[in-house]
Amino acid sequence: MARIAITDGMAEDAVLMLKEAGHEVDLLSSNSPLDGYDAAVIRSATKITSQIIASAPSLKIIGRAGVGVDNIDLNAATNAKILVCNTPSSSTQSVVELTIGHLLSSVRHIPAADRDLRNGQWTKKNLRGTELYGKCIGFIGFGRIAQGVGKVAKSLGMELHAYDPYLPKEIATLEKCKLHQNIEDLFRTCTHISIHCNLTEETQYLVNLETLSMMPGIGADGIECGNHIVSCARGGIVNEEDALKALKNGVLSSCALDVFEKEPEITHPLLQHPRFHGTPHIGAATHEAQKRIGFEMANLLIDFFSGTTPKSVVNKEVLA
Ligand code: NAD
Repeated sequence: MARIAITDGMAEDAVLMLKEAGHEVDLLSSNSPLDGYDAAVIRSATKITSQIIASAPSLKIIGRAGVGVDNIDLNAATNAKILVCNTPSSSTQSVVELTIGHLLSSVRHIPAADRDLRNGQWTKKNLRGTELYGKCIGFIGFGRIAQGVGKVAKSLGMELHAYDPYLPKEIATLEKCKLHQNIEDLFRTCTHISIHCNLTEETQYLVNLETLSMMPGIGADGIECGNHIVSCARGGIVNEEDALKALKNGVLSSCALDVFEKEPEITHPLLQHPRFHGTPHIGAATHEAQKRIGFEMANLLIDFFSGTTPKSVVNKEVLA
């Protein structure tokens, strides 16, 4: 029997599965101390720092219920021989659908139209949008989520482009996506950019005033569709100050974010710009994704404590 701490919530069925397998499960608040626990299950709200790790000598495994592990000090976990695992595919479809929602909202001004209606204004003349059909969409990072967005975008008649220095070329070929050797080429080609890479030192502020200023503003079909940015990846890849400047100086026609550099974010001036719209990090917040994540994580922990090595280990060095 293991003692398992769940700090950011988990689907009820999954908690039940762990208890039925004989484990002791405590539902704690985010960032609670983990002293005395064998396992911790976290989502994005808990930060696993080196201090937390040092104060939890019995911890053997950290399960990230979701994808991004940028809230975990991986070096500290690896040095302490703590396995870090995630559930990489469980939320893919939910994030794909949210991204498409943001893209469509951007080009058809759905958030602004709704605001005007609520204010008693019939602003039909100001709300002429553009189609996604015939435009180039550029993906920064072409992993699971971007490939899913790509399939929908292609069915809408968009041309797929990507910058992803770590992607095997065959995947891009298979998905009929043009892979660019440098990020500048991607920005110069695409009027619509969707961000789907991980947050690393390399990707921090990749989207900034300089790169945004390279975007063409005119679609591949010759339509003046403006430039559009969507990010459902991680805060800090888009430089939010620069995005605001680009909205103000007309370089960007829209910016839509599900993720912010500081979360929760409710005060940034970007949020007040009429051509910005956002969501509070709800990419994986669907019933289906949470159910899948909980099920996958519970099985992973049950297997781990019965001696099976989990499939989705992030810090494989610990296994060596
Ligand atoms: P993935 O690992 O399948 O894809 C990430 C891709 O980024 C990989 O192909 C990788 O090669 C690429 N990449 C890495 N460094 C890069 C760089 N310097 N430049 C360009 N590309 C680079 O991951 P995924 O499941 O598709 O998730 C993508 C992102 O979405 C992650 O940041 C994840 O944290 C985020 N996410 C957000 C939510 C949400 O709630 N909004 C939910 C799930 C995932």
